[in-house]
Amino acid sequence: MIYLDYAANHPSEEAVLRRFCEAERSFCGNANSSHPAGEAARAEMEIITLSIASLLDAGGAEIIYTSGATEANNTAIKGIARAGRHLGKHIISTPLEHASVSGSLTYLQEQGYEIDLLDIGRDGKIDLDQLKELLRPDTVLVAVTAVDSELGTIQPVEEIKSVLTSFPDCALHVDATQAIGRLPVAFSGLDTMSLAPHKFGGLNGSGLLIKKSRLVMEPLLNGGVSTSLYRGGTPALSLAASVETALRLAVENREANVRKVTELSGELRKALSAYPKVRINSPADAVPHIINLSVEGVKGTRFQSALAERGVCVSVKSACSSDGAPSRAVLAVSRDRRNALSSWRISLSYRTTEQEVQEFLHVFDDCYQELTGKRSFS
Ligand code: PLP
Repeated sequence: MIYLDYAANHPSEEAVLRRFCEAERSFCGNANSSHPAGEAARAEMEIITLSIASLLDAGGAEIIYTSGATEANNTAIKGIARAGRHLGKHIISTPLEHASVSGSLTYLQEQGYEIDLLDIGRDGKIDLDQLKELLRPDTVLVAVTAVDSELGTIQPVEEIKSVLTSFPDCALHVDATQAIGRLPVAFSGLDTMSLAPHKFGGLNGSGLLIKKSRLVMEPLLNGGVSTSLYRGGTPALSLAASVETALRLAVENREANVRKVTELSGELRKALSAYPKVRINSPADAVPHIINLSVEGVKGTRFQSALAERGVCVSVKSACSSDGAPSRAVLAVSRDRRNALSSWRISLSYRTTEQEVQEFLHVFDDCYQELTGKRSFS
């Protein structure tokens, strides 16, 4: 099998698994309990939390442990919108967001909020001038993904931050799920930020929401103050420990890992671009881990199954979206519905080898010859 779907899920690192097991063995208490076992768990939780904050340049911010980025995005978006409803009900976002962001926005729209989506240029980036035009005194939230999962486009978060300095009542939420380990990520200047360690060597079932300390949100889950007022329940100490290790490895090894992936990605882009019916949808300055492409006249789902039959794992749209509709992200950059329907994604990791790339190209060639021979849109 050749696994090229690391943006959907990344295997956990040995060190992460070890850290999880060590914490499980060492701490029996509930970190909310007021006895020695509880105090020991609480003290460890505090050490872990401080380290996570320092890795993300989030000193003084609140670290909220969640079950993943879906929960983190839902908590931030719904929580900020509900808490800010006396200030306004206008929200700005993009068509490139993950379903956990766009789904939260659809939910809010049904509750009477007004949602504006920014146009995306051919380079996959949001239009900053349009953002300035759309911002209003009643805009309570701008929600943007730092790196989108389908194209790998990097959004100008620093510029968005400076635009928003004139709108103190408007919070900025950044989904950094695909950015960790790929770009330098710092929380400072943001209001909330979400991430999920299973995208960079951590465990499934863990996630983080970072929140500026004074920002008020309505909690998603009611009942019980825990390590945070915004997420009740017994603190998952061992998972938190695993998050800290995964994050530390991703941050410390980022430059070396990105160098390796950039080489493999360049090789793939070059080889794939040589096919006359291939169109690379990911912008040239996207993160190297993600290559979105279309093979003209062949549906993305069809190409994906041909690759899958030969043992290659790639994905069509985000792993969480339903089949059938064209990719919104690819449609936004290409303005071409058929091209969007033909699109699929390769995603690489520092674990990807040169041999896997060569084997993939061999299998790709086989599928290309077989599927582009047909005349109809199959
Ligand atoms: N945000 C982005 C950009 C993603 O790529 C994903 C997962 O694909 C998510 C959020 C949701 O993450 P999780 O599966 O941890 O809930």
